[in-house]
Amino acid sequence: MSFQRSPGTQDILPGMVEKWQYVESKAREICRRYNFREIRTPMFESTELFHRGVGETTDIVEKETYNFIDRGDRKLTLRPEGTAGVMRAYVENKLYGEPDVSKLYYIGSMFRYERAQAGRYRQFNQFGVEAVGSVDPALDAEVIALGYTFYTEVGLKGVRVEINSVGTTEVRAAFRSKLLSFLEPKRELLCKDCQSRIDRNPLRVLDCKVDQHHFTDAPSILDSLDEECEQHFNKVKQHLTDMGIPFEINHRLVRGLDYYTHTAFEFKAEGIGAIDTVGGGGRYNGLVADIGGPDQPGVGFGLGLERTIMLLEHQATELPDLTSLDVYLIALGEAADREITKLVYELRSAGIRAERDYQGRKMKAQMKSADRMQAKYTAILGDDELANGEITLKEMATGEQRTVKLQEVAAAIHVK
Ligand code: ATP
Ligand code: MG
Repeated sequence: MSFQRSPGTQDILPGMVEKWQYVESKAREICRRYNFREIRTPMFESTELFHRGVGETTDIVEKETYNFIDRGDRKLTLRPEGTAGVMRAYVENKLYGEPDVSKLYYIGSMFRYERAQAGRYRQFNQFGVEAVGSVDPALDAEVIALGYTFYTEVGLKGVRVEINSVGTTEVRAAFRSKLLSFLEPKRELLCKDCQSRIDRNPLRVLDCKVDQHHFTDAPSILDSLDEECEQHFNKVKQHLTDMGIPFEINHRLVRGLDYYTHTAFEFKAEGIGAIDTVGGGGRYNGLVADIGGPDQPGVGFGLGLERTIMLLEHQATELPDLTSLDVYLIALGEAADREITKLVYELRSAGIRAERDYQGRKMKAQMKSADRMQAKYTAILGDDELANGEITLKEMATGEQRTVKLQEVAAAIHVK
């Protein structure tokens, strides 16, 4: 019998996993600087949370969720995105009772039943942030700045920021009727998905990937904004300009999820086949109240880490070394082997990245391992050295050899 991974899932193996560690540590480090704190919520929640929080008419909830019933007859769903769960936790743990804005971030797996292709998986990972408790446009700009900083600091080039305002519920209702009179005559020309979206959620039609060429003359939601929406949008743009963050306005940008208000944004980049969006987010002033909490406004984003890493590979970005060794220890003989077992333990305790042989191989094979593992030094212990309480230390780059006392190996390696 043999097993394969499920379609749309991945094994992240050594060699690749270091890239993940690097990207994740960058995300954490940047969040620390921006004073966002980590939150970890469950990978499954009650199905109802997503059906409410995400909105009934989005693709994610309609077609993409993994739903199941557990042995206690609970209806559960593997989280397809991070925001709803974080907001549930925010409400349940009464974080709104705290005096400051809640600035939270998460890194974790999301699950969507999608047709697998490059950059599209059924289990994938997102880095996301949520800032809850303020309507200040400075916070929208800060969240966009954080995402932009993340992409720049991991070393990606050519990431663009697109922003839009999707207004308030009232603004959208007014725009909706304008949009409908534009879309109705075109109904037959549009793709099947759009034909059904027209009736359920016409704004989403503008988001369609295949029908864009029909929308050149579509009305712009920006012309329907009321004064409050316009002011908010202007301030967000102003803050971004002040910070020197480049952005473009895309009035057709609507996020997949229905709970967004005011700011919507996406991070775009080329290099993942037909897909150009690497992350996105926006302001969601109605969401917390929608899931039964107090009326607290929020703004956040979710960035796809698979797509980030695919782009890093595509651009052949140099990443820091996360695998090399300080020293590879080689024992010649049984007595030396016993000493090496102790020494490798002591070196590791002293903070040194150390490795040894476990297969009783000849010295030459061990030297090759030291090379493969990019050891800075090899330390060779034979009977003579052992008798003197010494070891031969060889610097791999220069080939330079010297003898050092066993107790001084750690210091000798640290110094160089
Ligand atoms: P798309 O239009 O590509 O389907 P989306 O609008 O469904 O994206 P969001 O819900 O906004 O995506 O999720 C934010 C980010 O998460 C995306 O920009 C992408 O990088 C990543 N993402 C979403 N779905 C997947 C997936 N199935 N596989 C890998 N990454 C994904
Ligand atoms: Mg999608």
